[in-house]
Amino acid sequence: MSSVADIFEKAKAENRKSLLETEAKTICARYGIPVTEFMVAKTAEEAVKSAEKIGYPLVMKIVSPDVIHKFDVGGVMINLRTSKEVKSAFKKILDNVKNHNPNARIAGVTVQELAPESTEVIVGAIKDPQFGQTLMFGLGGIFVEILKDVTFRIAPVTEQEAKEMITEVKAYPLLQGYRGQPPADANAIVHILLSTSKLVMEHPEIKELDLNPVMVYQKGAKTVDARIILE
Ligand code: ADP
Ligand code: MG
Repeated sequence: MSSVADIFEKAKAENRKSLLETEAKTICARYGIPVTEFMVAKTAEEAVKSAEKIGYPLVMKIVSPDVIHKFDVGGVMINLRTSKEVKSAFKKILDNVKNHNPNARIAGVTVQELAPESTEVIVGAIKDPQFGQTLMFGLGGIFVEILKDVTFRIAPVTEQEAKEMITEVKAYPLLQGYRGQPPADANAIVHILLSTSKLVMEHPEIKELDLNPVMVYQKGAKTVDARIILE
């Protein structure tokens, strides 16, 4: 696994402002943020080998500096259960991406652990021109996108502030469990908020960070998609 500094160096050398999902997740993992296990495959055969190592069911996704929204171009395939499905998903993903943008540079396809469905949250960071690194928290889907039910704190955040961020969103009762649903692991979210705070404070070159979605379980959490934009 590359070091955080190496990843930033490489992006700068290649004049890229947006890190690949693989790079963003590697950086997150270095800071103790749980991410889905992944391997990068360059051929369908490599993808099958990776699949055997990680175990089914799996997700496969395009890795390309020219594809920012992977799902929209058919660059994400979910719930693959056999080596045959992995092989055909590899080809399908490359076909879809090439149909969409024939000039897209392809770094490979990730084979990754499927994070089971659960309560989705979003953890973000944005570098405010006035206040500097600022953390954001909200519940996934309609809560953030339509209801704008989000909360912010200037980084670095304390454990107390991280806890407040979680309890003060309107959708908080959903995390506490409802209609027989078990409560989500709030401590796992606190840990991610604190780790994200540390990450953006130690790397002022990060302009934006987006962990979206993070699946939160009864025990633990898993970041499904990660984006980091540099200044
Ligand atoms: P995009 O670049 O389009 O945002 P994502 O990586 O977010 O692509 O994938 C799109 C969607 O596919 C996610 O929002 C999530 O619902 C699902 N997904 C992606 N990766 C995984 C995974 N490892 N496990 C489970 N679901 C996933
Ligand atoms: Mg996404």
